[in-house]
Amino acid sequence: MKLGQKNTLFVVLLLLAVMIGVAVSGYLLIQRHVGQMIDQDIQRAHGVFVEAQKTAFDRMVSTARGIGREPALMAAAITGDAATVRSMLEDLFPRPGIDLLAIYLDAGGGNVVAEGRKPHFTSPQVLASRPLDELVQRVLGGADAAFGNALIFDTFLRLAATPIQAPDGTPIGVLLLGEEVGQPAVARLKELVSADVALFHGQAVLGSTLPTPETPFAELSYGGNDRRPLAFLAGGERYIGHVFRVLAGDGETTAAHLLLAHPAAHYWAPYEALGKRALLFSAVILVVAGVFGVAVSGATLTRPVLALVKATRQIASGDLNHKVNIHRRDELGQLAQAFNLMLDNLGASQAELERNRQRFHDFAESSSDWLWETDAECRFVYVSSSITTTMGMRPDEFIGRRLDEIFVRDDMSDVMARLCPDRERYYPFRDLELTLTLIDGSRRHLRLNGMPVLEGGHFRGYRGTASDISKAKQDEERLTVLANQDQMTGLANRRRFLIDLAHEIRRSQSRGTRGALLLIDLDHLKLINDAAGHAVGDEIIVQVAGVLNRLSRKEDLVARVSGDEFAMAFPEMDREQALLKARQVLDAVNECRPIHGGQTINVTASVGLVFFPDQGGQAVELMAMADTAMYAAKDGGRNRIQVYSEADTARERMGSQLAWKNKVLEAIDHELFELVFQPIAGVVDGQVHHFETLVRIRDTDGNSLMPGNFIPAAEQFGLIGQVDRIIMRKAVAYLAGLPADMASVGISINLSGLSVGDEAMLDFIRETLGDSGVDPSRITFEVTETAACENMSRAVEFIARVRQLGCRISLDDFGVGFSSFSYLKNLKVDILKIDGSFIRDITRNREDRLFVKALVDVARGLGIRTIAEYVESAEAFALLRRIGVDYVQGYFVGRPQPHIERDKLRIPNLSGPQVAAG
Ligand code: GH3
Ligand code: MG
Repeated sequence: MKLGQKNTLFVVLLLLAVMIGVAVSGYLLIQRHVGQMIDQDIQRAHGVFVEAQKTAFDRMVSTARGIGREPALMAAAITGDAATVRSMLEDLFPRPGIDLLAIYLDAGGGNVVAEGRKPHFTSPQVLASRPLDELVQRVLGGADAAFGNALIFDTFLRLAATPIQAPDGTPIGVLLLGEEVGQPAVARLKELVSADVALFHGQAVLGSTLPTPETPFAELSYGGNDRRPLAFLAGGERYIGHVFRVLAGDGETTAAHLLLAHPAAHYWAPYEALGKRALLFSAVILVVAGVFGVAVSGATLTRPVLALVKATRQIASGDLNHKVNIHRRDELGQLAQAFNLMLDNLGASQAELERNRQRFHDFAESSSDWLWETDAECRFVYVSSSITTTMGMRPDEFIGRRLDEIFVRDDMSDVMARLCPDRERYYPFRDLELTLTLIDGSRRHLRLNGMPVLEGGHFRGYRGTASDISKAKQDEERLTVLANQDQMTGLANRRRFLIDLAHEIRRSQSRGTRGALLLIDLDHLKLINDAAGHAVGDEIIVQVAGVLNRLSRKEDLVARVSGDEFAMAFPEMDREQALLKARQVLDAVNECRPIHGGQTINVTASVGLVFFPDQGGQAVELMAMADTAMYAAKDGGRNRIQVYSEADTARERMGSQLAWKNKVLEAIDHELFELVFQPIAGVVDGQVHHFETLVRIRDTDGNSLMPGNFIPAAEQFGLIGQVDRIIMRKAVAYLAGLPADMASVGISINLSGLSVGDEAMLDFIRETLGDSGVDPSRITFEVTETAACENMSRAVEFIARVRQLGCRISLDDFGVGFSSFSYLKNLKVDILKIDGSFIRDITRNREDRLFVKALVDVARGLGIRTIAEYVESAEAFALLRRIGVDYVQGYFVGRPQPHIERDKLRIPNLSGPQVAAG
């Protein structure tokens, strides 16, 4: 049902209710009015009845007086002769209108003569009965006349009594007349009173003009003489009437009951006609109101509401340009206005939403990372399509699945613990690394970042990014292999050997066992190379490596520690066994006899032997001892074994160290330090922007002493801090003194391991820079990788604070102590200086090239610049430029020079176009 129709129905029902109300009150009023009318009519009829009674009695009295004055009767009565009187009576009776005629003679004598229409009227009981006697007595008492009614058996008699007197007035007797009131009289009465009449006494109905009532008359008469009308059904019709008492002669006793009634229909008829017309009229009004209401509501209510419904549907289908055209001042008009305003606002937010969606889509599609989102059950609900490029998988392969359901072959416990955390433990996570095995068996390394998604405080899942770090991981893994293994022989390299040796030394110390270290250097390999070619030299190196491998037990260490130098460590081996082993090594090396040009080449080696932990507890120290012993073997004629003799070497070394210490002290005292600057050039433009500050001591004899000699002594005797400060002060002062047009030139200053992490050094740097006014960004501090790694947390802190000052940090000798790139993330250095040992032979050595390339790639991935030192040829320079190194340093760029000169700010012999073409 439509709104307008409902509205109209409501109005119509309201109207109907009002009409019913009016009708009910009208009916009640009419009912009362009809009752009153009937009552009035009945009272009037009763009045007529009473008058008729009176008239009847008057008539009976005059009849009785006429009879009483009859002379014959009077004469007979005077005689008192009953027989005479009877004969008289027989003459007088019957007479019309008289149903009983009785003469009472001799008052009180009981002598009665009577005639009646019915025999029992004259029975002695009747004539002496109380109603008759009452009348007789009243007349005898002197009354002129007496009236009364009496029910004689089933006959109702109207009675009148008059005295019989002698002409002289002497009372002779009483004359009593009776007139029956029966059905004919009742019928006449109906005509007289204009109402239906019933005369009854108890169950006996004496006369009635009414049909037989459903309730007997006797039970209707409850009202007595009260004024309340009563209603009853008779002959199928409803009557309203009243019951009156008809009294006996004593005026008290009820002789009979008189019912006067009118049929109700007679009174209701005009109102019924009126009601029918009113009903018709009301129906017409309701129909008109209904039709009119529907029409008006349709125009004012249904149509605008339908317009709003249509607009709502349009919005639901996405059309926000729809407008509601309702121009009215009422509430619907206001609603339409508000609706249009809402549409405008929705349109604006929709457009913004669309822009954001597009933005998100573009970001997600163009990013090399992929975006993801999981639900509270850690199942993917979104994965950006860029996953196809990185993983070769479609996003729908992820949707609705958990990571550990997709990659069942991999251990996902760590990442699943983050994505499906225990209750209430939803934390963001960063740089979570995981390895995935794809269907083709290839592996991918991912780095995940994630944020919990909370809506209204409820955990809904995680969303975040994933980057493919497989390349970086592979580079790092490759670097780890390169850093630990010698590529040519497959043996461990020097770095690995030193680490493992240190481990063995500690073990032997804790177990109280002894071990031996052998250093084996091939004799005159250079000569063999020169004579037979480099390939033969290589072959010898590989053969010797095989020999040494065969001679080692499972627990022994074997390494190629440099070009033609090998080392072996034997845990749990005493002196004799070690010497025997060394002998076996020499013999086995001798058995390598490559043939070149038809000639057998004899291969020999010199062996240095040292015992741990007896002769030393440090790996590097032991290696140095073995080196010393090995050189002693060389000196002793080669192809032989030399056991390290502690006493001689220690004395010798200590002596020389003390000499150097004195030279350093002297240099400090007399300001003998001199700075030289070695240029560092950009690979792309060939321009020199930067110089490494190096130090010399100009001794009193005028000799220039190199840092490789005096710096170890300065470190050993605790003078290095002072040396660092002197170099720093001089270098900064020099920079400050440069002309203004060279203000972009920067320098590097080496910091010793002791200075790294020294709080006082930090203060010194800050003060020196402050005093000089030099821009801190022109200063780069070079810190060796080993110094940084020795105490990582202090180095991290120190580097961060130096960088806060505005200076830059370069990690020196990088690659020598290489273990992993992971610490670079923490150190936050600006530049890596690749150790010269990887550069020197780079044009010839493939392994070095691989290592440097991998190193440069990883550094670039971390946003760190690289410098290659020891670049000595145009060939090496070109190679490094191809590999992608940022800066170069070495004789190719320039030797260390006492001054920074304006005309040397580019690589000599390097033409511009050539650089650009590279
Ligand atoms: P010495 O007896 O004093 O040891 O003489 P040597 O010629 O072996 O000289 P030394 O040990 O000081 O130098 C090692 C030489 O070994 C230098 C280099 O020509 C050669 N060499 C180093 N690495 C390789 C290599 O990988 N292959 C070849 N073929 N030769 C190498
Ligand atoms: Mg050699």
